[in-house]
Amino acid sequence: MARWKCKHCGCENFSEHYMNGYRKYGEYDEEGEPIDETIEDDDPELEIECEECGNRGLHLTNIAELVK
Ligand SMILES: [Zn+2]
Repeated sequence: MARWKCKHCGCENFSEHYMNGYRKYGEYDEEGEPIDETIEDDDPELEIECEECGNRGLHLTNIAELVK
């Protein structure tokens, strides 16, 4: 499991905006993709947003950095 931190505020909580609502994932892999095997991905992903500062982008890698 990889840890990602917001580039702006350092927070590790993110919300994903989808066409049909919000999703929140607890874990992401090193590619910045959510780790979740239970949801079928037929809902277009729009943006991901930092819950603390509102920093947002098209992909986790745009707004956060991988903590090694
Ligand atoms: Zn932030």
